[in-house]
Amino acid sequence: MPSGRHKSGTLRKVQIRTPGGRTVQRYDQRNPKAPSCATCKKTLPGIPRERPIRMANLPKTQKRPERPYGGVLCSTCTRQKIKLEMR
Ligand SMILES: [Zn+2]
Repeated sequence: MPSGRHKSGTLRKVQIRTPGGRTVQRYDQRNPKAPSCATCKKTLPGIPRERPIRMANLPKTQKRPERPYGGVLCSTCTRQKIKLEMR
């Protein structure tokens, strides 16, 4: 029976293999939800879903695509926006 603080579902269950070869269940904080496109609200690929402390230690080039509007708009919306700007 899990102890009281582990019954709520706030923490996720992780199966971890110990050095002795046993598989034990640990509780870990959940990752934040994936960022979405500012226009069409579609989930943005190429952005890691990590806790803030790990995101802060990642290089900037691994946090979002390296293009105009990278990490804000999806590729389809970026294409449309650039075409509108060129008119
Ligand atoms: Zn979009």
